[in-house]
Amino acid sequence: MRTSRVVNLPTIIVVGRHARRRRETTTVRMTTVVRAKRVGDDDGAMTTPMTGEKMSKEEEKGCRRRARVCVVGAGAAGLAAIRALRLESHDVVAYELASEEGGTWRYSESVELDDVAGEREDRARVHGSMYASLRTNLPREVMGFEEFPFSMRAHAGDARRFCGHREVQSYLKRYAQTFGLTRDVEYDRRVVRVERVVRENALEEERWSSQWSVTTASSRCRDVVDTKTEMFDAVVVANGHYSEPRVPEFKGALEWPGKRVHSHNYRVPDEFAGKKVLLIGAMASGEDLSREIGLVADKVYLSARTWQNPAWAHATEGIGARGNIFRKPNVAQFNRDGSIEFEDGSIAPECDVCMYCTGYKYAFPFLPDGVVRVEDNCVAPLYEHCIAANALSMSFIGLPWKVVPFPMFELQARWIARMLSGAVPMPSADEALRGAAALESQLEPNGPLPRRHAHCLGDAQFEYNDRMAKLAGVAPHAGWRARMYKATGLNKRANPETYRDAEMPDAEELEAAEKEFKSIDIVYVEAN
Ligand SMILES: Cc1cc2nc3c(=O)[nH]c(=O)nc-3n(C[C@H](O)[C@H](O)[C@H](O)COP(=O)(O)OP(=O)(O)OC[C@H]3O[C@@H](n4cnc5c(N)ncnc54)[C@H](O)[C@@H]3O)c2cc1C
Repeated sequence: MRTSRVVNLPTIIVVGRHARRRRETTTVRMTTVVRAKRVGDDDGAMTTPMTGEKMSKEEEKGCRRRARVCVVGAGAAGLAAIRALRLESHDVVAYELASEEGGTWRYSESVELDDVAGEREDRARVHGSMYASLRTNLPREVMGFEEFPFSMRAHAGDARRFCGHREVQSYLKRYAQTFGLTRDVEYDRRVVRVERVVRENALEEERWSSQWSVTTASSRCRDVVDTKTEMFDAVVVANGHYSEPRVPEFKGALEWPGKRVHSHNYRVPDEFAGKKVLLIGAMASGEDLSREIGLVADKVYLSARTWQNPAWAHATEGIGARGNIFRKPNVAQFNRDGSIEFEDGSIAPECDVCMYCTGYKYAFPFLPDGVVRVEDNCVAPLYEHCIAANALSMSFIGLPWKVVPFPMFELQARWIARMLSGAVPMPSADEALRGAAALESQLEPNGPLPRRHAHCLGDAQFEYNDRMAKLAGVAPHAGWRARMYKATGLNKRANPETYRDAEMPDAEELEAAEKEFKSIDIVYVEAN
């Protein structure tokens, strides 16, 4: 345990699972770093990079590296990064363009200019995509960080299993507060440029071949002002990927007379009252928004190329509380008379608005050329969706999608932190490039996977998480997580409109979750 600067903040008591087993109770201040070792974690011994064998204490002495690490963004992924880096005693500076924690869970009424035609790259950006009524699509038990259970208490008075966005933001704030993470965050600062500085001893120390110069500017102003540049040994990119709308092209869309918007800018349904609305995309947002908009609109056409439940492609009519939602196949073309033609030949006459619920693009406007490239929403070359294969001291947390994000962030972060410290081996440059090439070979045109699905994990996330845990030398997640996630998916398909409030068939998993959470015991004691 490393105690750092003590400030006048609430005192907390953390009774860790291991601490308890060793009959210790650790009382800490907010700024104290607590080493949270979990069942099945390795014993913290370093391993020799080439052989992977554990080092003796003598060998270990002087080998552990303490890096100065820059974290870009302090959303859930950035916070997990700070936490893991601190556990490995690295020096961390995180830059966050907002004024507080929460990342995408920080709801704001502000929206940006809708630019579905891609003509206003210079528009002012809004990071968040949350809408007012949003409730999670995962139960809180499975959604929370492993180290900081999301069910011990209501953080903003909303104890529902599928809670609202305010509850999630409060949970993240509490996470940051409990582990004293905010002291490493510089708020209201945007990372505007990251540059690679090749070290003089690059050949001698292949694994640390780069340093990074990171330039930040005040984010309170659109112009780049109040800049400063600092040097770091490593950079962890955690800037989120639900901010830059992705808009697929359709025949006739540009000439279509209706209004075209993206779900990034949706907050409340009022502007759709009485209108005929086309929604494109039926993943979580498209499904939810069709129901909410259906409450006020005249008609809603929900069009998709693929459906979460293939049977839904045939259930075309009478959906939603007012029976005014119509499921449709992919759009064939937009017509100048305002109608929309679908691939099955059916037509939606005179639509007023089209909302694209078609997801987002990865964007790293601050990164230099030559580290990674983004092509059709595939970030490459990356080792394990995480490490830049061309520059091993740059990593990315949170790129995989169709996953349970927070616990995956935790594992990725621990791997990165422990790799940087030398506690576990870093891949060689060759190994990283080979790993990246193996992923690439799965993608079109060489492999079966559409390139834009390169980071879509779905059920493969559990294998991926186990691999992360192994690489990081920490215990894998308990089995109830995967089972609860799958039970949620089934429940959602069976009760698409009511799954959040329907009783879930996961009593066993819930019991296992609660047992795990109780063994972690986090008690807060407010300051005097
Ligand atoms: C509508 C919607 C619903 C969702 N529902 C769920 C759900 O039910 N359950 C679930 O688990 N997940 C859900 N998610 C996924 C959600 O994105 C993740 O849970 C998680 O919050 C992502 O965290 P992050 O840190 O990767 O990204 P973010 O939360 O986006 O955080 C990135 C941070 O980086 C900052 N940043 C960006 N660029 C810069 C820069 N240049 N300089 C400095 N700071 C920068 C941003 O301000 C932000 O704070 C949902 C997402 C959306 C959009």
